[in-house]
Amino acid sequence: MHFKNLLLPVSLVSLSVFADVEYKLTIEQPEHHLGNVSVSFPKSAQAHLDIKLPDWRTGRYEVLNLANGIRYFNATDHEGNTLNWQKIDKSTWRVHLDNPAQVNVSYQVYANQLAKRVRHIDDSHAFIDASGFFMFSDSFRQEPVKVALDVPKQWRSVSGMEYADNKHTFVAENYDVLVDSPIETGLNEHYKFSVDDRNYELVIWGEGNFDAKRILDDLKKLVKTGTLIWHEYPYERFVFMVHATSDARGATEHLNSTIIQRHRDTFAKREDHLSFMSTAAHEFIHTWNVKNYRPAGLVPYDYVNPNYSDLLWLSEGSTSYLEDYLLLSAGIMKTDEFFKNLTSTIDRHLDKPGRQVQSAAQTSFDKWINQGGDHGLNYSTNIYLEGALISMALDIDLLENSEGR
Ligand SMILES: [Zn+2]
Repeated sequence: MHFKNLLLPVSLVSLSVFADVEYKLTIEQPEHHLGNVSVSFPKSAQAHLDIKLPDWRTGRYEVLNLANGIRYFNATDHEGNTLNWQKIDKSTWRVHLDNPAQVNVSYQVYANQLAKRVRHIDDSHAFIDASGFFMFSDSFRQEPVKVALDVPKQWRSVSGMEYADNKHTFVAENYDVLVDSPIETGLNEHYKFSVDDRNYELVIWGEGNFDAKRILDDLKKLVKTGTLIWHEYPYERFVFMVHATSDARGATEHLNSTIIQRHRDTFAKREDHLSFMSTAAHEFIHTWNVKNYRPAGLVPYDYVNPNYSDLLWLSEGSTSYLEDYLLLSAGIMKTDEFFKNLTSTIDRHLDKPGRQVQSAAQTSFDKWINQGGDHGLNYSTNIYLEGALISMALDIDLLENSEGR
C-alpha cells in the first residue's frame, strides 16, 4: 500500500493520510490490567456514525462478548465538542453528528483474558489482539490505520505489522489487517533470523525451561519446508510470538504471525519440544491454509455476527495432518515419533463418544456454540482429530489415483 502511495500524485497522498483511522493505546496502570484507547475517525457527513468492537477474534470461532471490557466511552468532534451517543446493541456505539465532523472516541479497556489470546495487560507485558481493543466503523473499515502505543519505557513492541515512525507505532493497510496482526509488547526476549531471503522473528514473553537456541535452530529448519507443499511464500516477514506462562495454553494463526502459549515448564523434554514444534508447524501451515485460502463462509469477517462454515474440519484437520509431515521432512521429528503421534490421534478420536453423534461438518458449523466440557465430549466430534484422519484418507486416495503424484 505504501509503495502504491508513492506512485500517486501528492494531493492524493495527503488525502490518503487524512483518511487514516488513528488508534492510540496508553498503558499507565498495567498492574490493574487497564489500557486507555483513543480512536480518530476521518470526517464523516452522516447523521450518525456507528462504532463497533468485534464480538469475536480471527482464528477463534466463538462469541467472546468483547464489548464487556469497555468502560468510560466518550465521543467528541475535532474541535473537542462533546457528541451525543447511545449504545444500540451490545457491541455498537452510535455517535450522533449535527454537522460533518471528524469523530474522536476514547474509552478504557479491561484486558485480563490471556487464555483467549485476545487481550492481556500486566506489569510485564501486553498482548494486543485488536479485536479486544480497537473499535471500527464499517464506513472506514477499508481505510489505512495507524496504531501508536504509549507503554512503559523498557518495553519492546513486536507485530507482523510494519513499524511507522518509531518502535511503538505500527501501520496497516486497513482494519482487517490490523485485527489479524496482534502486537506483543513488554519485557521479552527477541531474536531475528533470515532464511531464503525472508525475515523471521521470535519473541518470547515469560520465564520457562526453554532453550531459545534450540527453538531457533528448529524454526530455521521448519520454515524451509513451505515449498514441500506450496510454490510461493505469502509473506516477506513472519513473527513467532511465544507466551511461556502458567495460565494459558494453545495457539492462534494470524496473517504473518502466530501466538503460541505453553506452560512454562513444558519446553525442555524432547517430547515437550516436539509438541511445541508441532504447534509451531500447525500455525505456520495456517499461513497458507486459512489465511490465504479458506472455506467460502469465513470471509469477509463479520466481527459482530458469526461467519458460519461446515468445513472448519478441513481448515483445522488438514493443517493438523500436515504438521508432523513437515517436522518429519525437516528432520526435526523421527519416523517412530511420527507414527506414535499418528497412533495417538487415532486413539483420541476413537475415545471421543461424540464422534458417533455429530459429523465433522456438523461440529464445524456448531463451533460457535460448542462450550466443550462433558456435553462437548459426548455430543460433538473433534474437528482437529477427525479432520486430520479424513485429510489423511483423502491424501491416500489422491496418491493412489494419481500414481503417487
Ligand atoms: Zn489451527
